Amino acid sequence: MSKQENKNNNNNFFNQNPLITFAMFSVVVILVFKMFVGEGGANNSLATTNTRTQQVSYSELKSLVASKSVKKVEIGQSFIRAISTDGSKIYTTRIVKGDTKLVEELDKQGIEYSGFSETNWFTEMFGWLFPFLLIIGVWMFFASRMQKSMGGGILGMGQSKKMVSSEKPKTKFDDVAGVEEAKEEVQEIVDFLKYPGRYVEIGAKIPKGVLLVGSPGTGKTLLAKAVAGEAEVPFFSVSGSSFIEMFVGVGAARVRDLFEQAKKDAPSIIFIDEIDAIGKSRAAGAQMGGNDEREQTLNQLLAEMDGFGTDTPVIILAATNRPEILDAALMRPGRFDRQVLVDKPDFEGRVKILKVHMKSVKMDDDVDVEEVARLTAGLAGADLANVVNEAALLAGRKSQKTVKQKDLFESVERALAGLAKKSRRINPKEKKIVAYHESGHALLAETTEGAKKVSKVSIVPRGLAALGYTLNKPEEDKFMMQRHELWAEVDVLLGGRAAEEVFIGEISTGAGNDLERATDIIKSMVQTYGMSDIAGLMVLEKSRQSFLGAGGGAAREYSEKMAEDMDEFIKSSLEEHYKAVVARLEEYRGAIEDMVALLYKKENITGDEVREIIINFEKENGIDSKVSEVSDEIADELKVDASMVDQDEK
Ligand code: ADP
Ligand code: ZN
Repeated sequence: MSKQENKNNNNNFFNQNPLITFAMFSVVVILVFKMFVGEGGANNSLATTNTRTQQVSYSELKSLVASKSVKKVEIGQSFIRAISTDGSKIYTTRIVKGDTKLVEELDKQGIEYSGFSETNWFTEMFGWLFPFLLIIGVWMFFASRMQKSMGGGILGMGQSKKMVSSEKPKTKFDDVAGVEEAKEEVQEIVDFLKYPGRYVEIGAKIPKGVLLVGSPGTGKTLLAKAVAGEAEVPFFSVSGSSFIEMFVGVGAARVRDLFEQAKKDAPSIIFIDEIDAIGKSRAAGAQMGGNDEREQTLNQLLAEMDGFGTDTPVIILAATNRPEILDAALMRPGRFDRQVLVDKPDFEGRVKILKVHMKSVKMDDDVDVEEVARLTAGLAGADLANVVNEAALLAGRKSQKTVKQKDLFESVERALAGLAKKSRRINPKEKKIVAYHESGHALLAETTEGAKKVSKVSIVPRGLAALGYTLNKPEEDKFMMQRHELWAEVDVLLGGRAAEEVFIGEISTGAGNDLERATDIIKSMVQTYGMSDIAGLMVLEKSRQSFLGAGGGAAREYSEKMAEDMDEFIKSSLEEHYKAVVARLEEYRGAIEDMVALLYKKENITGDEVREIIINFEKENGIDSKVSEVSDEIADELKVDASMVDQDEK
């Protein structure tokens, strides 16, 4: 523990004092360099063409002097050299400090002697300059690389140069659609940034940090920009992950620069995208081996946030889609103590978002925005923007003047299930399996109470994994499900596999994903929602479990017996429901065959067609209809649930 701290401290010291580090590094290099170059630097004024140099010991030199075997001696700072009487040899030796007798002896013998400088100015200069140049070269090389990777300079330390760039976005609240509540919540921040004085005078506590929580593409960045745009203040944007890619210590330094700059330009906004990259809970981080760089950056961020008072009009907005993994320290009062949910849009929201993005595109009169919105439940703002753009591209490719409803539909389908791959040929056997499988889903969806209605069944392969799919429409945007609806979903999921068994007599791997989802639903009913007798109301699994917890060997909080009971319950309910599903399919054999026939003919069939087939079959066979009369037109409020796209893998 203390060792670890120590290490961090060291790191901090060097990282936060790059100039000192630089100076120390230079000195070391120079000393090393001098060790190699120093001695050789001595120039030799005694040397003539035919002389040989011979190393001798100090005492030898003394005796040479005593015997008058040398005629001239030169004394340097660390060397002595002497030329032999016949001029054929140069003796060199190191000086022995503290010996003064040599000079006396030289005087006594009458030998000529003088002092000399061991280096000349050129070697002297070069010896000092070269390592400096080398270091500066290396330094500049890395600095320029760092500059590239972080979009700001680190060479500019201590200079007035702008290190973190800001923008003044033109984005307004009107550009952000379908997130009315979130907009309301940040309205106050706009006000504060516009008129900080008012709030400071009253002594109101304005939040310093606001966490924008929501799935990717829901418009968190857009909203943050709009806050800056509305308040007309500079917007400093960084991504949490960009800190981690950098050299150790640079992340923390960057945070410091960022805040310095933002405070200088106050009122201003700092936006940190993907804050989970640095703000991951430290406990979770330790499990993964820890990350010094991340921790340093996080600590620096916390220190900076604590470092200025609420009277400094700098607001830090941060975005994440995984608030549950964030370090608790980030959420303390005075930090990101306010969370704003930027949710996926509902029907109304989708209409508004689509309209925002259709503004800049020429739309045909036949375009029905609500229809598109109805089909795109579950898509985020970014997906919707993409749908509009894709449709425009499609229209362009077909040299149309405007975007037609047809283009939008095609674009929606792509967004929902990946690119239509008409060209990919599936073999007839596979086609048959897929047709029965999907018809099985569709039949169960229409004849089970509480199940989502079918909007479309397709056996056109889409993307790589999905061979066919059944789109189901929930009655409304659902944030809650009742128990019978969950069971209905299980039945619909089992319908695919059961149809394969009943009509083909053999089962395929295509239902793997269905079965997994069915199992998960039942498990959640037991573990999380208190919907079984096994655990009663006892919650076995916390719903907001850290994503690491699952794999990290989190201790199970219930007994072995409970686990066994649960397994048994899941298995037996699946069996029981499967039996009922098979019975239903047997009962509706003719309807399934009709659906499959139509699917073969058209590849895509609509929910209306499915319902018509089933109702006709029921009439012919005197079965009381289980299909609720919902036509595609009447079902105006119905929406496609993208998560229900059947991802059957083969
Ligand atoms: P996030 O930051 O939540 O991942 P972004 O703000 O980067 O999402 O959204 C990406 C793009 O998607 C935006 O630039 C915008 O074009 C579009 N977009 C997303 N949400 C919305 C919305 N609510 N209203 C309008 N456009 C949106
Ligand atoms: Zn399936």
